[in-house]
Amino acid sequence: MSERITLTTTAGAAVPDNQNSITAGPRGPVLIQDYQLLEKLAHQNRERIPERTVHAKGVGAHGVLKITGDITRYTKAAVFKPGTETPMLGRFSTVAGERGAADAERDVRGFALKFYTSEGNWDLVGNNTPVFFVRDAYKFPDFIHTQKRHPRTNLRSNTAQWDFWSLSPESLHQVTILMSDRGLPIDTMHMNGYGSHTYSLWNEKGERFWVKFHFKTMQGHKFYTNAEAKELVGTTRESSQEALYNAIESGNFPRWKVQVQIMPEADADKTPYNPFDLTKVWPHKDYPPMDIGIMELNRNPDDYFAEIEEAAFSPSNIVPGIGYSPDKMLQARIFSYADAHRYRLGTHYEQIPVNKPLCPVHNYHRDGQMNTYGGHSTNNVDAYYEPNSFNGPVEDKSAQEPPLKISGDAYRYDHRAGNDDYSQVTALFNLFDQDQKNRLFSNIADAMEGVPDFIIERQLGHFEKVHPDYAAGVRAAIKRKKESK
Ligand code: NDP
Repeated sequence: MSERITLTTTAGAAVPDNQNSITAGPRGPVLIQDYQLLEKLAHQNRERIPERTVHAKGVGAHGVLKITGDITRYTKAAVFKPGTETPMLGRFSTVAGERGAADAERDVRGFALKFYTSEGNWDLVGNNTPVFFVRDAYKFPDFIHTQKRHPRTNLRSNTAQWDFWSLSPESLHQVTILMSDRGLPIDTMHMNGYGSHTYSLWNEKGERFWVKFHFKTMQGHKFYTNAEAKELVGTTRESSQEALYNAIESGNFPRWKVQVQIMPEADADKTPYNPFDLTKVWPHKDYPPMDIGIMELNRNPDDYFAEIEEAAFSPSNIVPGIGYSPDKMLQARIFSYADAHRYRLGTHYEQIPVNKPLCPVHNYHRDGQMNTYGGHSTNNVDAYYEPNSFNGPVEDKSAQEPPLKISGDAYRYDHRAGNDDYSQVTALFNLFDQDQKNRLFSNIADAMEGVPDFIIERQLGHFEKVHPDYAAGVRAAIKRKKESK
C-alpha cells in the first residue's frame, strides 16, 4: 500500500483527529478552542460563491484549437499561425435557469471559450445562435429580468417574456431560432457555437478586417422536442453534464469545425444591414465562411468548481491581431463581463489557475483581496509604478491596433428607426421544412401559455410581417392547444 498522506490544517500542521471534536467530558459541551471544528464549519459556510446572474448552469471541459487554414494575411495573432495548437477551455450553459436547473430546457446556450495563446488569453464568449435578443445593452438588464422569476410569484413568467419580445421587434430573429429545433439541443456537443458579435482582425500592415467566428459541430445537430425534454427532465436534470463528461471519459472527443467570415473594413458602409448589429447575420453568399481549424474537447476538469465554476470568460480578453468592433452589445460586454467576475470571484480573478494566462503577465496592479502576487510580479520590487528607472515592464507599440475612423454626433439614436427586423427572419423561416415549421408553431404555442390575448396578437403581428404562414401556423397551434384542454 502506498504511504498515507498526512491530513493537515490549512496552515500545514498535522491534524491529530478528524473524527471527534474536543469536548468537556464525553457528552460535551464543545470547547471553543477546537479551532479545526470551527474552521471546517466556517469553510462549509463559504463553499458557495454568487452564481452567475445569467448562464448559471454550465458544463465545461478542456481541449485544443488546431489551426489548419491560413488567415495570416488578415491577422498577426500568433494563435492563427498555420499549424498552431492552443490549449483552451470551453463552458456551455443555459441562460435563464439557476445552478440547479435542468439541462434539457428550451433556452439559448452559452458557448464560452478561453484560448490560452502565447500572446495572452483570448476569450470568445458566444452562444449557440449567431444573433441575440437585443442590440443595445441598455435593454439587456430589462431583457434578463423577463427571463428570471417574477418578483411576487417567484415563478418564470411567459407574459413578461412575450410582453418584452412583442415590444422589441429586434428580438424576433433570436426568438425564432430559440423556438425552432436549435433552441433545445440534446447536449452541448450537438450544437454550433457562434462568436455572434462582429470582431476585427488586423495584420502587420495595419489593415483591419471585420470578422465573425463560427464553430460548426462535427457531431451533427440533434435536438429534443418539448415532449421528449419533459420526459427526460423527469429522469435526469444533468443530461448535458452527463453527455459531455461521459463522451470525454470514453475517448469520444467532440469536435467543431472553426470558420470565419471576413469583411473588408470599407464594406461596413455598404451592406444593406448594419454589420455591427447583433440581431443580424452576414449572409453566407456575401461573406462565405472559410475553414480555419478544428476545436476539440478532450479533458474533463478534475475539480468542477476550480476549473468551471471559477472560470471567468470575458469578451474584453483579446490579443494583438484581434480587435473589437463598434457593436453596441460587444462594447457593453467588454465592461460588464469583467465586472461580473470582479464581483463574483474577486478583483484578482485572473490569478485563479484556470484563468491565468500561460504566457508571462507583468503589470502594475497592486494589492486588493486575494492578490497572490503570483501572476503579475515584476520580480523587481522597486518598479511598482510606471514610468520608472528600475527596468520595470514597458509598453509594446507593436500591440497597438490601427486607428479606427469614427464619425457622428453623440446622441441617443433610436436603434429601431428604419431597421429591418424581418427579412433575415424570413430567410430563416424559408429554410425550415414543413415539419420544422410545425414544431416551431407548437413550441411557440407552448411558450405562450397563460399570456394575455393582446400580447399574443401583438406578437402575431410580427410573425405576419415575417411570413403570413408563420402567423397563421402559430395561431392554429394556439387554437389546437386550447381545444385539446
Ligand atoms: P444560407 O442558406 O447561406 O445559410 C443558412 C444557414 O442557416 C446555414 O448555413 C445554417 O447555418 C443555418 N441553418 C440551417 N438550418 C437551420 C435551422 N434549422 N435553424 C437555424 N439555422 C439554420 O443563408 P444566409 O446566410 O442568408 O442565412 C439565412 C438565414 O439563416 C439567416 O437569416 C439566419 O437566420 C440563418 N443563419 C445564418 C447564418 C449566417 O452566418 N449567415 C448562421 C446561422 C443561421 P450553420 O451553417 O451556421 O449551421
